Amino acid sequence: MKIGIIGAGYVGLTTGICLAAKKHEITIFDINEEKVNHVHSGKLPFFEKGLQELLNTTITKNNLHSTNDLDILIQNTDGCFVCVGTPTKNHTIDLSQIKSAIDALASAIKNNDKENYVIIVRSTVTPSTTRKILLPILEDKLNQNFHLCMVPEFLREGNALDDFMNPDKIVIGSIDKYGINFVEEIFIDFKGNCEFIHTNLESAELIKYANNSFFSMLISFSNEIANISEKIPNVDPYQVLKALVSDKRITSQINGQSIVPGLDSYLVPGCGFGGSCFPKDVKAILNFAQSQKVSTPLLNAVLQINDERPDKMIKLCESILGSLKNKKITILGLTFKPDTDDLRSSPSIDAIKLFLEKGAQVSAYDPVIKNISNSILLPKECTYNLKIEESLENSDAVLVFTKWSEFKSLNFELLNKFMKKPLIIDGRGFLDKEKFPDGTYYKIGFMKE
Ligand code: NAD
Repeated sequence: MKIGIIGAGYVGLTTGICLAAKKHEITIFDINEEKVNHVHSGKLPFFEKGLQELLNTTITKNNLHSTNDLDILIQNTDGCFVCVGTPTKNHTIDLSQIKSAIDALASAIKNNDKENYVIIVRSTVTPSTTRKILLPILEDKLNQNFHLCMVPEFLREGNALDDFMNPDKIVIGSIDKYGINFVEEIFIDFKGNCEFIHTNLESAELIKYANNSFFSMLISFSNEIANISEKIPNVDPYQVLKALVSDKRITSQINGQSIVPGLDSYLVPGCGFGGSCFPKDVKAILNFAQSQKVSTPLLNAVLQINDERPDKMIKLCESILGSLKNKKITILGLTFKPDTDDLRSSPSIDAIKLFLEKGAQVSAYDPVIKNISNSILLPKECTYNLKIEESLENSDAVLVFTKWSEFKSLNFELLNKFMKKPLIIDGRGFLDKEKFPDGTYYKIGFMKE
């Protein structure tokens, strides 16, 4: 099939590259010329595990084209996914990118006399946005000669390729049968391996928010259990939550084999969730609920607990080192999770700011963040090192914020060689405690002796 992608970001490019690998003919459009040129020359404009390799193949096979001319996309395709950003602005969802993308799309469909074009909203938008805001923009220019669907994306950055290729469900919200058939045909290869859920536009929109709110809630729940654990001698909150997951209402048994559910990876205490989805989507649905006069004490708490996590890490550090003024602090891991270079709403960035406010000197190292000059998210007062050893040099404390596999090899000898005095705080609870003598390794959620 000939399919267009509007927005060459994490979702747009993953969608485009994966569908091209499934033998569809893909044309990608973005208003950012630099990104289009990147894709054109076969280079991914961001890091996502395995995606560059797949891009190389699809480009070579001539299945994937990029353009900064929307007319070309329309002429070459019968329908397109709209994958532009829907960030948060003043605590609410900012629809400016999607409104302008839909408006430009409507004009291009009209100018090219394209009949029966299918517009598939892939961006995450609050309930009723597709019908009440986007549909009128299209109707204004096109009368009824188009089809509109809302097909949310559930991929996780860091695992985007595998998630896209092995989805649990494909949710198809549509205003008509033509749209449903078109989307089903795109995903025909996935039929049999995952559930196709047909809904209206509004339910499709809310399913996405329910998903992200649920997983955010599990993380905040785990952190609340950790907060309680910290007040009880000898309690290990990681063990407590692991035991919870083994409950047969959560972990199913098939032929005597325990099927560990993916949600065990969310039932882990730590420095909190970040990224481009969980924080912004929980905020957006909270704001939407408020606008409908619905009270949301549970979701309020999910955000509040999460907002406090970076500060918890700093307080633990302070309780060991005393005043942080002029102390040298090393932050390991800048991205919100491993195997991506996405820095949006990363807890480590909040922590860097808090340490700087306390008068600490902060240095940071991340395996994939090498060029910080064009990042507006990273505080300039922090030093960013290209080697872990440089970052550790003369440090009073090391705090691990991202579960990068490279950090698994951290040990006492390395810390002892470079730091003033070894002290490591594991914000993801994944390092091997046995590698560090007593009094040098701390996890949050444990009572401090
Ligand atoms: P992104 O910021 O990485 O990419 C958005 C792209 O859209 C950018 O390249 C931008 O230049 C482009 N763009 C903006 N306005 C445009 C326009 N008018 N025409 C063409 N291109 C335009 O965003 P993302 O992380 O890929 O997220 C896209 C959407 O998918 C969001 O709604 C997000 O909530 C949702 N989503 C994201 C993820 C994720 O893990 N990143 C997962 C599921 C859903």
